[in-house]
Amino acid sequence: MKKIAIIGAGISGLFFANLVEKNKSFSYQIFERKNSIDLNDGYGIQLSVNSIKLLNKIGFNNFSKSQLYFPKKVIFLNAKDSKKICDIDLSQFNDENNLYTTLKRSNLIEFLLDGIPKDKLSFNCDLGDIKQGDKVSLLFSDKKTNKFDYLVSADGIYSKTKQILFKKDGLPEYFDAIALRGTIRDFSSFDISLYLGPNFHFVIYPINQNKEFNFIAVVRKELIKKKISDKDFLDDETFKKNLLNQISSKSNLNLVNQVEKIKCFPIFVSKKFQIPSSKNIFLTGDAFYSFPPSFAQGASQSIESANELFYDLQNNTSSYYKKRVLRAKQIISRSNLNHFAFHLSNPINILFRNTLLKYFSKNKKFLEKYLGKVYND
Ligand SMILES: Cc1cc2nc3c(=O)[nH]c(=O)nc-3n(C[C@H](O)[C@H](O)[C@H](O)COP(=O)(O)OP(=O)(O)OC[C@H]3O[C@@H](n4cnc5c(N)ncnc54)[C@H](O)[C@@H]3O)c2cc1C
Repeated sequence: MKKIAIIGAGISGLFFANLVEKNKSFSYQIFERKNSIDLNDGYGIQLSVNSIKLLNKIGFNNFSKSQLYFPKKVIFLNAKDSKKICDIDLSQFNDENNLYTTLKRSNLIEFLLDGIPKDKLSFNCDLGDIKQGDKVSLLFSDKKTNKFDYLVSADGIYSKTKQILFKKDGLPEYFDAIALRGTIRDFSSFDISLYLGPNFHFVIYPINQNKEFNFIAVVRKELIKKKISDKDFLDDETFKKNLLNQISSKSNLNLVNQVEKIKCFPIFVSKKFQIPSSKNIFLTGDAFYSFPPSFAQGASQSIESANELFYDLQNNTSSYYKKRVLRAKQIISRSNLNHFAFHLSNPINILFRNTLLKYFSKNKKFLEKYLGKVYND
């Protein structure tokens, strides 16, 4: 039986492991850098029907409904006065069994961990080096492992695998934007509320049936290299409060008093597609390509890519990278367009954008192309 090493116990690595578990075509081991998996964080994640369909194949439809929310619409609003611009009916892309879903990221991880025997997951394994050949040898910070037939690298945006294989070119680049994450209790709307402001947008959505909401803001910010990697600077309470204040002052919501447990991090995206020359090394999820967050597809694509790779290995075909590049291009163009349109600051451009949004949000043909192609293809 062929042996697979999975690097990273994030969404992509764990979903891939669940597929192997269900099909028993390979043996595998997951190597995770951290010493445990944090199942307490309350931040949210959106999953569109393309990934829900795949999750349901491994039993997600049996997951406790009280831990999930099924938003029907995304509402676009002007941040300044909370006036509605338009809405998009997300439920038109649902079918009876597969619904657009929001939840706590930790609940998704918990579900994925449930499908994997404990001994398949090794902690404190920080990938140090890779020796390529017919078999792949992996060297971790403290111990050498066996050789594997395949390496599935799901080690996220700062993928060590990519850095080993592609050196500096394997590093992602700063997207000139900062993300602020937080939680809100008892918000007034149960849809996905997308507030547009000059050089920022923020999104509020429910993450379960318990009136808990996720807050995520993306704020354009140029930072010098030293500051981007300075964890103390980004963790500084005053910096986080100032950033939230900056958004709050340009909206009529009292975010400063409503948003709790604020975390701040710089947004990095992949520079280009990079495909390993070894035929037995595969990158999935953010390690393959990390998208700008304005299309909320990161987690869904992490699941999709793991699914495509598993079936490629199982059927002994080699179309994974070709298909993945095509799919990723669809997401990149939409994410970039959203990011640009969401952050306009010139009043004339904003008026023009809002008029277009009103028109396109009700245009079935456009929605089918822009969203349906991603959610339902
Ligand atoms: C602001 C923001 C908002 C987002 N919102 C959404 C959303 O609403 N919907 C959505 O679909 N997506 C969203 N995303 C994206 C989504 O979170 C990611 O795309 C997704 O988590 C990537 O999954 P992954 O498994 O590839 O990587 P990760 O989840 O990052 O997992 C990587 C794992 O690899 C481990 N690892 C790293 N290096 C090593 C190493 N050297 N050795 C061993 N293990 C290692 C890490 O510890 C981690 O456990 C958002 C992203 C951002 C930045």
